[in-house]
Amino acid sequence: MQNICLLGATGSIGSSTLDLISQHPDRFRLISAAANESVERMVEICHEFQPERIVMGSEKARDAVAQACPNLSIQFDYDTTAMTEIASESNVDQVVAAIVGFAGLTSTLAAIRAGKRVLLANKESLVTAGKLFMDEVAKHDVTLMPIDSEHNAIYQCLPQNESGAIKRSVDKILLTASGGPFRSFSNEQMLSVTPEQACKHPNWSMGRKISVDSASMMNKGLELIEACWLFDVEPDDIEVVIHPQSIIHSMVSYDDGSVIAQMGNPDMKVPIAYGMTWPERITTQVEPLDLFEIAQLDFSKPDLEKFPNLRLAADAWYIGGTAMASLNAANEVAVDAFLNKRIGFLDIAKINTEVLEQTAVFPVTDLEAVFGADKTARQKANDVINSKAFL
Ligand code: NDP
Ligand code: MG
Repeated sequence: MQNICLLGATGSIGSSTLDLISQHPDRFRLISAAANESVERMVEICHEFQPERIVMGSEKARDAVAQACPNLSIQFDYDTTAMTEIASESNVDQVVAAIVGFAGLTSTLAAIRAGKRVLLANKESLVTAGKLFMDEVAKHDVTLMPIDSEHNAIYQCLPQNESGAIKRSVDKILLTASGGPFRSFSNEQMLSVTPEQACKHPNWSMGRKISVDSASMMNKGLELIEACWLFDVEPDDIEVVIHPQSIIHSMVSYDDGSVIAQMGNPDMKVPIAYGMTWPERITTQVEPLDLFEIAQLDFSKPDLEKFPNLRLAADAWYIGGTAMASLNAANEVAVDAFLNKRIGFLDIAKINTEVLEQTAVFPVTDLEAVFGADKTARQKANDVINSKAFL
């Protein structure tokens, strides 16, 4: 029996994880869960799974959940400190890191420092604190399972046996991207797209922030950096391949000319289940792949003129240090402004460019450097938005 701590329980990854826990009650138990403010959904989770501890983002949300669960013996808490506690508690075996954005960094790191098996969805934590994050993974001998579908696919396609094998026999990592809902839009068409259109991903059902990131290709940029940290490679070792059907979740190309791909219907339950039981596999109730129905798989190169975020992410990697945290912070602020209809869709990349160009870069010597860069870049992004300097 594996005790699961689910950070980001009320979100899209959270709900796929809960589905798997329900499907396999003999193997998994939800022992604790965290979310920010989704009271109603957390109350449902409390009644259905009866975990030992719940943490919400604020006292108000905590009180509201607690009041709706008077007869359940659950400890209710709030704030980041309590989230780090549940992520490192001794009775937890696995932590699913599925909080969205930089807000997930502290609790994800706490899980790593406590030596838990960590299932990483929260790519922003790895992007912003990459070196520190991976150093902690090595120091605490953590099993870090990427559950971002592409990275999970790459993990499955890489040689598993020995470290160093990657460098010796891998030619390239082929990171697939659906291209998002605006793949075939012109710049002019993208000028007036709405948050609702951006959040309607053609293949995946996801939270709003990652949906906008997918539409702007920033998600692929973040994933490029994520892959560099996870697999100890550089952006030049990775080729982004637009594959609109999202059936191949990524590939690894070897020196001998072999290319190994991981395929399946686009459903996050597959990578999450793999992370939960690796090296074993379990059933997920995901529809088996019907290749005759799919019939065709297409591939093309990304358009970096139309989607500059992808290039910005590679730039940030090569600049190094806190540049990645600054870019991530700018993007979080810009996406939020777009979702609240304060800026247009194409302004997201403009704001990201401005902030990356104008923010000083420091080495990532400690977490304070990352938090400092995040704060400065958020301020800068807000200044750019308020002054409309990007127009
Ligand atoms: P959602 O928006 O659906 O869910 C986000 C979750 O994070 C919610 O439970 C939310 O709580 C919680 N949360 C947000 N802010 C805080 C905070 N300050 N403290 C505690 N909890 C917080 O996002 P997704 O599930 O789509 O994505 C989660 C992460 O997984 C992201 O990093 C994303 O990039 C990554 N990912 C997602 C994929 C997907 O298919 N959805 C695929 C690959 C990666 P509340 O509901 O209360 O706001
Ligand atoms: Mg992904």
